[in-house]
Amino acid sequence: ATPTAVMVGTGVGASQGVLIKGGQALENAHKVNCIVFDKTGTLTIGKPVVVNTKLLTNMVLQEFYELVAAAEVNSEHPLAKAIVEYAKKFRDDEENPAWPEAGDFVSITGHGVKAIVRNKEVIVGNKSLLADHNIAVPVDAEDMLAEAEGMAQTGILVSINGEVAGVLAVSDPLKPGAQEVISILKSMKIRSIMVTGDNWGTANSIGREVGIETVIAEAKPEQKAERVKELQASGYTVAMVGDGINDSPALVAADVGMAIGAGTDIAIEAADIVLMKSNLEDVITAIDLSRRTFSRIS
Ligand code: ADP
Ligand code: MG
Repeated sequence: ATPTAVMVGTGVGASQGVLIKGGQALENAHKVNCIVFDKTGTLTIGKPVVVNTKLLTNMVLQEFYELVAAAEVNSEHPLAKAIVEYAKKFRDDEENPAWPEAGDFVSITGHGVKAIVRNKEVIVGNKSLLADHNIAVPVDAEDMLAEAEGMAQTGILVSINGEVAGVLAVSDPLKPGAQEVISILKSMKIRSIMVTGDNWGTANSIGREVGIETVIAEAKPEQKAERVKELQASGYTVAMVGDGINDSPALVAADVGMAIGAGTDIAIEAADIVLMKSNLEDVITAIDLSRRTFSRIS
């Protein structure tokens, strides 16, 4: 393609809300034959809602959710926002809730959060976060996690002072049209893979729903990037589509990193292409545009 063609291609992209950062990104996109998708916020809407709570303590829901929200209000994670939103229902002033003070807040990327609230150690996150703190998960809690995961929901554990005090089930539905995008990619001979920090049960359920056969779950940010590199080593030209801080290393490692426009600034910076409208269809728009710019046969 001539420099002019590349400029035109980039311009057409921009007019359609597909921001292509330079000619190399536009060129690489037509060679892509494998796309790695993040799950939360990429394939799913990313605005999860709490749909179920199981308490394993004699605390009442209001008290429980005060502790949980006090810890999660410090996190930017979509799951944290869902939990805080839900916790408001138990406050007198839903619009302006004053959560208890949280001290020593720590956010463990891809795992959850930890804080001291009302002199209690509150940990909210996945099983591996609790395992890291040597907290045992009782059978009741395991059952609820499994039940949530079977329904493509994410089960989140809450530990208070070293004991599991409750399990939350959070639902984050697929973006409309997600299945169609995956099936169109298949017809374009492009393989789709899902890589997520979420657990295996939920990930497999979502994978089945969206039509992605290869699912990799419980992946830390560096592991997402490693997967991309492995695929490249086995001969694929790989695009990564993601929205989170946890996707940044993989976005950088990929031949073409595509960030969801509504995603975090760090992901947008790490990407070669930004899907400004946050539509998954625009993954296809970008590849189409590149194919039209760089190959005679469209
Ligand atoms: P994804 O790769 O699907 O975007 P993440 O890597 O961000 O997911 O998170 C992986 C898992 O870690 C979540 O499914 C959840 O179980 C747990 N987690 C992460 N952040 C939080 C949080 N702020 N509160 C509770 N759980 C969290
Ligand atoms: Mg995400």
